[in-house]
Amino acid sequence: MVWSTSWLFHAIVTASLAIGTACSQPSGHEAITRDVCIIGGGASGTYAAVRLQDLGFSVTLIEQDDSLGGMVNTYTDPDGDIPIDYGVADYRSNISVVESFLKRLDIAYGPSESTEGTTVRANLDTGQRVLNYTSPNALDALTRYGEVAAKYSELEHGYYLPEPVPEDLLMPFGQFIEKYNVSGVIHVVYRSYGDILHQPTLYVMKYFGANAIYNLFNGFIGTKSQNNSEIYDKAARVLSGNVMLHSHVVSTNMTADGDGLIEIRVQSPLGLEIIRARKLVITIPPLISNLDGFDLGNSEKTLFGQFQSVGYYTSLVQNTGLPANTAVLNTNSNNLYDLPTLPSVYQIVPTKGTGLYQVEYGSPSPQPIESVKSDILASIRRLKTTGIANVTEDGEPQFVAFASHTPFQLTVPADAIKSGFYSKLYALQGQKQTFYTGAAFHAYDSSLLWRFTEDLLPKISSGLN
Ligand SMILES: Cc1cc2nc3c(=O)[nH]c(=O)nc-3n(C[C@H](O)[C@H](O)[C@H](O)COP(=O)(O)OP(=O)(O)OC[C@H]3O[C@@H](n4cnc5c(N)ncnc54)[C@H](O)[C@@H]3O)c2cc1C
Repeated sequence: MVWSTSWLFHAIVTASLAIGTACSQPSGHEAITRDVCIIGGGASGTYAAVRLQDLGFSVTLIEQDDSLGGMVNTYTDPDGDIPIDYGVADYRSNISVVESFLKRLDIAYGPSESTEGTTVRANLDTGQRVLNYTSPNALDALTRYGEVAAKYSELEHGYYLPEPVPEDLLMPFGQFIEKYNVSGVIHVVYRSYGDILHQPTLYVMKYFGANAIYNLFNGFIGTKSQNNSEIYDKAARVLSGNVMLHSHVVSTNMTADGDGLIEIRVQSPLGLEIIRARKLVITIPPLISNLDGFDLGNSEKTLFGQFQSVGYYTSLVQNTGLPANTAVLNTNSNNLYDLPTLPSVYQIVPTKGTGLYQVEYGSPSPQPIESVKSDILASIRRLKTTGIANVTEDGEPQFVAFASHTPFQLTVPADAIKSGFYSKLYALQGQKQTFYTGAAFHAYDSSLLWRFTEDLLPKISSGLN
């Protein structure tokens, strides 16, 4: 068995950092005036900021966390100095903006590396090994699935849906699998979707379309350093004084004096900063709960209020007791397609850090972090009681790193898609000089998001010269 480092196979504590109330006083600085203020320093926001600055516009990037990168998580072993990516792994090899962006940041890249090893199928609810497991024929299924997906390649550029929306895209993915006899694809793509069999097929195709299949067969690319944080550290240097970390928006408003600027009040470690920007780019998950203080109109509230989300978590654990180079895939033979019963661990996969395993966990809806963590540790302990893992001299399994990327997979029900949700969502672009990018507006994939953001730049920059 080969584990691609790809996200497809390896399919974060939302860092709502408590900004000290001690800093809630005005910083005393002058208001900052910028062409564009960008909210959220993950894949989309960092890309937008670097590109707009390169195009000659002044920018400020606001990020709540202590670094840029969003779903990129890199752990560096204190002894060995080996970086281990346990969030974003790799990028698409056939999308030109990916290479341009990596080159711009002087990042060495090449084909993604895979790891070889043994795979154990076990039911992590019981810790029991699944015997006589036969893998479905993924190759045939991928070919057939790819033929249908090719009809919707526009989706890889955005939510550009045919009108009326085809039934294939609206039907639950479980029904689509049966219709096209493609159950072999499920194990390639099931992680990160929550209850994938009930998700409208649209969401699977948005990420897992013909382009993803091309990359699956021809290989993804990754950083030579195998350290995805390198991309965002270098981007932070390029943006230097124009990034505000540990910061969040307190309010946004069109300025009263009618000069066409948007006033964005930001709580930063230095106090309350005021940014006056000609355009605003929002890249953070557009949930009403995450947009407190934003000047939302009724359309935004109605649309954003319809999003549902799932829980998706990744971590690095030591003392698992698993034999070297052994991965455990959670497999429940009582379920259709042997899928695990969520919430649960999806998989436990060895990393290049000695004794460190990446554990991915999913749930159909966001879960308290403590219950995710205790379920992960209990699942590993069960493997020790059944002998799949050994009892370790160093003792109990322990987290070395943990990240919640929740809310993940923002979706709306099939009825809303059918009634034109995405046309209405895209109609928000440019209203009140505000633009949107990010996964909810396109797809859960950095490469696709960089391209989507690139395509949006002419609209964002229009009128700024
Ligand atoms: C475990 C895992 C593995 C993955 N592997 C891959 C992979 O190999 N390849 C790939 O292409 N994709 C991968 N993805 C998916 C990909 O990373 C995401 O789709 C992508 O990062 C989404 O980009 P974004 O800009 O929408 O959001 P993010 O990258 O999440 O960025 C949003 C940023 O906004 C910040 N933020 C949120 N709310 C606020 C607020 N109120 N105020 C200020 N800041 C805020 C967040 O801290 C974050 O930094 C993976 C995801 C996970 C969870």
